[in-house]
Amino acid sequence: MTTIYIATHNAHKKEEIKSFFENIPSFSEKYVIKGLDDLDFTGDIPETADTLEGNALQKAMFIHRKYGVDCLADDTGLEVPALGNRPGVYSARYANMPEDFEQTGKPDPQSLRLPDPTFDRNIDRLLLKLQGKDPQARFRTVICLILHGRTYYFEGEVTGRILPQRQGSRGFGYDPVFRPDGFAESFAELDLKAKNAISHRGRALASLARFFDEEKDGSDTAR
Ligand code: IMP
Repeated sequence: MTTIYIATHNAHKKEEIKSFFENIPSFSEKYVIKGLDDLDFTGDIPETADTLEGNALQKAMFIHRKYGVDCLADDTGLEVPALGNRPGVYSARYANMPEDFEQTGKPDPQSLRLPDPTFDRNIDRLLLKLQGKDPQARFRTVICLILHGRTYYFEGEVTGRILPQRQGSRGFGYDPVFRPDGFAESFAELDLKAKNAISHRGRALASLARFFDEEKDGSDTAR
């Protein structure tokens, strides 16, 4: 058995990832997924890169170096073309960003020092800035896996639109205002299995699952 740790303190994410793999018997035969609580780690994980790939690598590498374990981390951004593809890599900190962030795409040093705002405050800013604009949006996830000393990347995305108001109470983050294409419900109205089947993270995980299935071992990227 190989144990793979998930480098996140986000309980929702951990649950989504664990639940995804629990449904794949060929995975459970060889791998066990564990969380940072199993390492008794409660400290901060640095996330200071300006790309999703960079942040996923930084998070996975931090736990890998600290504990010498195999590990995976994901980083997700909500990209809204009408807002210059923001908030993107700054989705978790959107409400802290400077007033001209939608134009410049640049955080200021002060906004990066603040603690993450609540999901609600991020949604409030999104709805305000998007008023009268095209609501098309996509979530993009990059997963970085460090396994047996090698680094691999997997990516997934889902397109949809931002709803004018919140719908549903499941999930986290921007789920109540994101309606995936082809669905009448927001992510927050879908159960975990339905969300995982089509979501950015679910698709990145499906690509990761194919990798585990094939036990591909020779390359350093897999998308
Ligand atoms: P992270 O840096 O990967 O944790 O994600 C950045 C932010 O994107 C989170 O704080 C959430 O606001 C948002 N986010 C990530 N994944 C999801 C999701 O599955 N649904 C809704 N929002 C998400």
